[in-house]
Amino acid sequence: MNEMKDKDYLIRAIAANDQLRAFAVDTTGITEYARTIHGNYPIATAALGRLMSAGLMMGQMLKSEDDKLTLQLLGDGEMKHVIVTSNLSGTVRGYVSNPYVDLPPNRQGHLNVGEAIGNGSLTVIRDMGLKEPYVSSIDLVSGEIAEDLTYYFAQSEQTPSTVGLGVLLNHDNTVRKSGGFIIQLLPFTKKATIDRLDENIKKFTSVTDVLSKGKTIEEMLEIVLDGFDLHITDRKDVSWKCNCSFERGKAVLSTLKDEELQKMIDEDKDIDVDCDFCGKHYKYTPLDIEEILNAKKSQID
Ligand code: ZN
Repeated sequence: MNEMKDKDYLIRAIAANDQLRAFAVDTTGITEYARTIHGNYPIATAALGRLMSAGLMMGQMLKSEDDKLTLQLLGDGEMKHVIVTSNLSGTVRGYVSNPYVDLPPNRQGHLNVGEAIGNGSLTVIRDMGLKEPYVSSIDLVSGEIAEDLTYYFAQSEQTPSTVGLGVLLNHDNTVRKSGGFIIQLLPFTKKATIDRLDENIKKFTSVTDVLSKGKTIEEMLEIVLDGFDLHITDRKDVSWKCNCSFERGKAVLSTLKDEELQKMIDEDKDIDVDCDFCGKHYKYTPLDIEEILNAKKSQID
C-alpha cells in the first residue's frame, strides 16, 4: 500500500522550559499518494492534505495505540465533506466527498478551500474502546481548517493552540510539499512566553511559504519558536494505511435492514462495496449476504 516517494515523518518537541509543546509533520508523500488514488483536483488535494496533517499530529495526543481519531469536516459547499482517521502509531487515511471541486482562487490568490467547504462543522471523534466514543463539534470559522482547529482547541479542549497547515502543488498539480505544525500552551505558561509566541506567529509567513523554500519541519518549528529553547523529543515515520477488509465490509453490510439484505439475496446478484478511504473493491455473493443475514438473526435471538 506504500507507494510513496518521500519518507514522511512527524516530530514532537517541547520549548520554553516545558511551557510549550509542539508537533510538526511532513505529509508530502501521503498527500500525493491520496491524490493519485482519489484523483483529487487541487482544492481537494489541499483540503485533504491539511486535514491529514492535522489528524496525524492530533493522533499523537491519544493515550493508547488502540485509540482511533476521526476528523470530519462537513459543509454546505461543493466539496461536501472531508474525512480523516488516524492514530497514535502514525498512520492516516482520508477522502474528500467531491474531489473534483474547481473554484477560482480566493482573494489572497490561494486555493479556495474555505469556499469549497462552505458553512458547516468540524467534528473530532476519539474512540478509546469505551462504550461511547468522545465526540466534540464546532461550527467552522473559515473552513480553511487550520483556523478552525485553532478555534476547536480553544473551545473544546481549553488548550490555547496555534495551528499551521499547508499544501503546495507543482504546476502539474502533483504535491510538492505538504505539512503543518501545532503549538500548544501548557498550563502556567508565562505572559512573556505568550507575547513572544504571538510576535513569532505574526512574523511567520505560512507553512507553504516556509516549506517551499526547502526548509524541513524541524527548521519550521525553529522559526515559529524562535527565541525559545526548542527540544525535539520524538521523531517517527508516518504513512498512509487503510484498514478496510472483506470482514469489515461485512460488518458494514450487516448494518443494513434485514429486508434490504433479503432483497439482495432474492435478486441473486453479487454486491459490490467500495472502500471510500482507499477505493478498494470488495465483492459479496448472494451466499455471503445470506451468511451476514443469518449471523444478524442469530445475534438477535
Ligand atoms: Zn480501504
